[in-house]
Amino acid sequence: MRGLIVAIDGPAGSGKSSVSRLVAARLRLPHLDTGGFYRAATLVALRAGIDPADLDGIVRRLADVEISSRDGLTVVDDVVVEGDIRGHEVTAAVSEVSAHPEVRRLLVEKQRQWVADRGGSAVVEGRDIGTVVFPDAPLKVFLTADELERARRRAVQRGEDPATHLEAIRRRDSMDGSRPVSPMTPADDAWVLDTTDMGIGDVVETIVEMARVLQR
Ligand code: C5P
Repeated sequence: MRGLIVAIDGPAGSGKSSVSRLVAARLRLPHLDTGGFYRAATLVALRAGIDPADLDGIVRRLADVEISSRDGLTVVDDVVVEGDIRGHEVTAAVSEVSAHPEVRRLLVEKQRQWVADRGGSAVVEGRDIGTVVFPDAPLKVFLTADELERARRRAVQRGEDPATHLEAIRRRDSMDGSRPVSPMTPADDAWVLDTTDMGIGDVVETIVEMARVLQR
């Protein structure tokens, strides 16, 4: 399956990560979680004591580190940071860091290079994959689900109370959807899939079937 990019975008808790991983396994394609890159950049900034609003400071710091993904895990300078980037501190700051156009430019370049290094085919998940990172992707899916359901999914993942996630999800969606550069929005040619009442297996099956139709 060469030259096939499956772009999977959507808000927090829409099921993107689980769905993307399973779709990639079914199609035998590499999987890239671009959210991990933005989270890693945020972690690097926070660890260096840089304010998420300090664009110059963040860009200077990012020039000294290598952010990538290995075996489905986000790495900074070859060290797996998967646990650290999922914490509340990074989650609370990531939308501010990822709104900086220069941060996006740097990370989008790394994401495109990551896919090119693997032969140009991948399942890539994020917020702007179908609109900006791979606008020519032959298959674009935008996953949605109502916000209570998304908060519930996040809470189940982490064994926490849905109420604690609802506010955080609303805040992040609002910042990700309203930033001037690369706001989260479905591409004009994306399939918008509301997963509120769908099981994960059905979502995966639907996307795999669309990919197979494209290959016929
Ligand atoms: O996907 P995840 O929830 O881990 O993404 C974390 C954050 O990274 C998002 O809330 C968003 O601010 C940013 N992001 C982005 N563009 C992407 C992927 C993630 O701006 N392609």
